[in-house]
Amino acid sequence: MAIKYLRSNLLFTMNKTLFVLLLCFSILGTAQENYPQDTFRPPLDIPLILAGTFGELRSNHFHSGIDIKTQQRQGLPVYAISEGSVTRIKISRWGYGKAIYVAHPNGYTSVYAHLKKFSPEIEEYIKKVQYKKQSYEVEVFPDFGEVKVEKDNIIAYSGNTGGSSGPHLHFEIRNSVTEKPTNPLLYGLEVRDATNPILSQIFAYPLSKEATVNQMSTKTQINFSKQKDGTFLADKVTALGTIGLGFIGFDRQDMAANKNGIYAVQQLVNGQVYTEYDFETFSFGETRYINTFIDYDHYGKSRQRIQRLFKDPSNRLSIYNTLKNDGKIEVREGLSYKVELLLKDLEGNVTKAVIPIEGGKKATKIEKTEPKTDNYLIAKKPNNYDLRAAKVYFPSNTFYNDFYVDLKGGADTVKIHNSRVPAHRNFTITFDVSNYIKENRKKMFIARLDKKMKASYASTYKRGTTFTTRTKNLGTYTLAMDTIAPKIRAKNFKDKQWLNNYSYLSLMISDDFSGVDSYTATLNGEWILMEYEPKNRTITYNFDDKILDQKKCVLEVVVTDNVGNSTAFASTFYRK
Ligand SMILES: [Zn+2]
Repeated sequence: MAIKYLRSNLLFTMNKTLFVLLLCFSILGTAQENYPQDTFRPPLDIPLILAGTFGELRSNHFHSGIDIKTQQRQGLPVYAISEGSVTRIKISRWGYGKAIYVAHPNGYTSVYAHLKKFSPEIEEYIKKVQYKKQSYEVEVFPDFGEVKVEKDNIIAYSGNTGGSSGPHLHFEIRNSVTEKPTNPLLYGLEVRDATNPILSQIFAYPLSKEATVNQMSTKTQINFSKQKDGTFLADKVTALGTIGLGFIGFDRQDMAANKNGIYAVQQLVNGQVYTEYDFETFSFGETRYINTFIDYDHYGKSRQRIQRLFKDPSNRLSIYNTLKNDGKIEVREGLSYKVELLLKDLEGNVTKAVIPIEGGKKATKIEKTEPKTDNYLIAKKPNNYDLRAAKVYFPSNTFYNDFYVDLKGGADTVKIHNSRVPAHRNFTITFDVSNYIKENRKKMFIARLDKKMKASYASTYKRGTTFTTRTKNLGTYTLAMDTIAPKIRAKNFKDKQWLNNYSYLSLMISDDFSGVDSYTATLNGEWILMEYEPKNRTITYNFDDKILDQKKCVLEVVVTDNVGNSTAFASTFYRK
């Protein structure tokens, strides 16, 4: 009930605001009018320079926030963008690292991730939870009103925790009810951007069976050049049948070289909008459909993402505002078509390209060559395969399209197609390990082999004489064995040392093959919190956590790898 009340109240306020905004700022376009413009302050007090934009194309997902650069430093104060209540705190060694969620009375929740630490009050709150659960990785959902914050309060300090490859603040604004992330730049935050989006490549795809582009039945790159007026003009394309276009492009804001995502894209054919999408909002449930939005095969070969201006039947993204004929162009003999491609950012900078297409004559037929195998997989059905070393089970709709699946099995290795085909959901690989002696099975696991045949641990569930892994990655899997226990080494102290002026203890932990699974540390027999940062293989204890009443202290650490090999470490130190 409370939520409903909040929502209807919000809608009422928004309608009024909307009216005023429409009168004053109709020039702004559509998106901004739907979001409060003056409620939120920036989360940092430095100029906002972005290393990533909302909706930017990432692996298996669209970026759900903005990445704000933090001057290559950690520890910048992070402010609550408005009053609110902390509704979630999560600490993970992966993903968002240390993250905090603040729900605001206007129906939006702000999210701050990869943090170094929280404000002293919140730090105290979460440490209690960590000591109670005896775990660095925790997730809590405080009751509404339990942990309140005011606008301008420092709630945390920026960092580089979790899946972050350099210091920055990942910042999101979500709808509190639907939990859909929205573009944080729609709320009036100031990011300077006078740079047009950059168009780097254009491609044309023959889509229907008989279709051709420049006499070819395969994807063709189209050359283009800059005109005097700043727009781009492509070389004339001769085509026939149903075709589609795609492009590679990015956007750049002022004062940074980062190749960020483009806000909105439009494709017009003879003046009519065929395709229009933007990154105002999307849902986490649909984000993996990015693999139907980009040319996934091209991405697999070149690591470059072509955005396709036509929609596959399996693509369920909600980002499209307009789609005529699914963005596909029917090219007829003797007719000409003027295709316009518009790339837009939020500041109104537009890059325009014109692609003239002419309906050519029927080409001498060029066969499309899809490599055939013994197994034609029908995507909407469940599929089971026995590959000697292992059985593979694809549930229905694991894949977007039917295809010839390439399967090979040996004594302990299976090749399950290749990583150039995307899977939408998990499939199962089950190895029979009854041929291995029990002692060896304990140290064995399922490993995925990359292109260079380098093995990495795949989550392995062991039951009797079968090992199972669930994955979304096609490729080669094998059985591997790890007999070597993890390594532990003191980083900033030595055994029997006096550590009076030390504020923290840090150790290096690592494992050579299956990887670190868990670790535990005690000081004089009592559990202590050690923060784990896999990127630099470090675990750290903060002396502020406990008052040490003994002069002589014994630190004990045990680290276990993913197959259960463990190493114990002990060290004595003194403190007054
Ligand atoms: Zn991010």
